[in-house]
Amino acid sequence: MTVSPSYDAIVIGSGIGGLVTATQLASKGLQVLVLERYLIPGGSAGYFEREGYRFDVGASMIFGFGDRGTTNLLTRALAAVGQSLETLPDPVQIHYHLPGGLDLKVHREYEAFLQELIAKFPQEAQGIRRFYDECWQVFNCLNAMELLSLEEPRYLMRVFFQHPGACLGLVKYLPKNVGDIARRHIQDPDLLKFIDMECYCWSVVPADLTPMINAGMVFSDRHYGGINYPKGGVGKIAESLVTGLEKFGGKIRYGARVTKIIQENNQAIGVELANGEKIYGRRIVSNATRWDTFGSLMTDQPLPGKEKRWRKNYQQSPSFLSLHLGVAADLLPTGTECHHILLENWDDLEKEQGTIFVSIPTLLDPSLAPDGYHIIHSFTPSWLEPWQNLSPQEYAAKKEADAGKLIDRLEAIFPGLDRALDYMEIGTPRSHRRFLGRQNGTYGPIPRRRLPGLLPMPFNRTAIPGLYCVGDSTFPGQGLNAVAFSGFACAHRLAVDLGAK
Ligand SMILES: Cc1cc2nc3c(=O)[nH]c(=O)nc-3n(C[C@H](O)[C@H](O)[C@H](O)COP(=O)(O)OP(=O)(O)OC[C@H]3O[C@@H](n4cnc5c(N)ncnc54)[C@H](O)[C@@H]3O)c2cc1C
Repeated sequence: MTVSPSYDAIVIGSGIGGLVTATQLASKGLQVLVLERYLIPGGSAGYFEREGYRFDVGASMIFGFGDRGTTNLLTRALAAVGQSLETLPDPVQIHYHLPGGLDLKVHREYEAFLQELIAKFPQEAQGIRRFYDECWQVFNCLNAMELLSLEEPRYLMRVFFQHPGACLGLVKYLPKNVGDIARRHIQDPDLLKFIDMECYCWSVVPADLTPMINAGMVFSDRHYGGINYPKGGVGKIAESLVTGLEKFGGKIRYGARVTKIIQENNQAIGVELANGEKIYGRRIVSNATRWDTFGSLMTDQPLPGKEKRWRKNYQQSPSFLSLHLGVAADLLPTGTECHHILLENWDDLEKEQGTIFVSIPTLLDPSLAPDGYHIIHSFTPSWLEPWQNLSPQEYAAKKEADAGKLIDRLEAIFPGLDRALDYMEIGTPRSHRRFLGRQNGTYGPIPRRRLPGLLPMPFNRTAIPGLYCVGDSTFPGQGLNAVAFSGFACAHRLAVDLGAK
């Protein structure tokens, strides 16, 4: 390299994937700089404040805060840099309101959930138990071992000798999708649709396209580590990681938009910012999506073959239409759950503005809203395309019209919602693209067709020496705990490459 690097690693972006990578590297004594284009850290796990409300931008059903096992990666990432967060346990993961009056709750207690589901589908009692028990087999394998980089052969060898049974179990499930396993145990078409929804609500694809490894995590950890909401809001996770990063000598700069990854002899050696400043590092990590990394930050070279193959296998999922609402507290009867999914017709499961997601974090942490009010965050998948090429007046009118339809539908589970409104902020795929810096505002990658489970999902190293990717377009995909996994793996591989412990 002709210029001497100022840092061991430069991380582009302070999403949870980027921050876990950075804090892990800093905790190993490496010099790290994080560059964030926005004003605060967190990306899709960030927050914003309006009129006394503290709204989560996106994520609010948080896995990974358990206090045992190895899959509690948010707890572990914070602890590695001397941080911890008070969390509030959610007794119910989701209250489903589904077609045909299928109304049920996923209780934190596994047996209570099974009993509720079996009561709806008594003829499938055995199949239900067998299916979810098989998910536990996957989870137990994952939860037996330290989760680090699968690209590091010495680590793989070590875990294999320590946990041969668990490793073989995971190898068996790695190429499998949930649909194959579900149909092995379950015949009832409505129950299979419910399993589709159980997958769709976090993978945004039905069971046939959802990898079994991810399902094993989600369907079991909700009853093991549980769903736990960080007191003070989801934004606290990123804020605490930044506190830990700085405590361990790492640096973060906000309003620092990277426009280019600088290469020398086909190797990534630095970054250029929007203001023209150049910063050099021994390794570069991109927490931007793969589409943004290879599409916007490396435009002066052809797309590497590995990325072409990835794009053949995976496409961008839709973004969301989001309503951030402040509502009078008496709208919600006692016993209302924090998270809801609403769908009136199974045919609309994957359609534009079909499935509706709801999160009411103030039921767990009232401090996020003024006294006497609650937050309702509701979002529904929406593509960028229908929001494009509109005049400002047309855009504003579409926002109002689509928000109105969403509120009308939500009245079915929260009668009186419209009248109880105190505040409303409408986010569209354009807002997600603008504020999160994600191409087309996408939630993340989804398979284009049935793939062999998680096998084709890339790890952290890229075709460009010195450049790593981290976050939801790397193994194992979307979700805060998943991108934390990707952060642990990225930092592990990178530290080994730099000869650090
Ligand atoms: C509406 C919604 C609801 C969700 N609900 C949940 C949930 O309940 N539970 C859950 O676990 N997950 C949920 N998720 C998913 C979860 O939030 C994401 O999978 C995860 O936060 C992605 O993290 P990441 O590190 O990959 O990237 P991101 O969060 O996208 O962060 C990337 C960061 O990089 C920055 N950046 C990008 N390009 C540049 C550049 N050129 N220069 C400098 N900085 C740059 C961005 O500003 C951003 O801060 C939800 C997501 C959304 C949108």
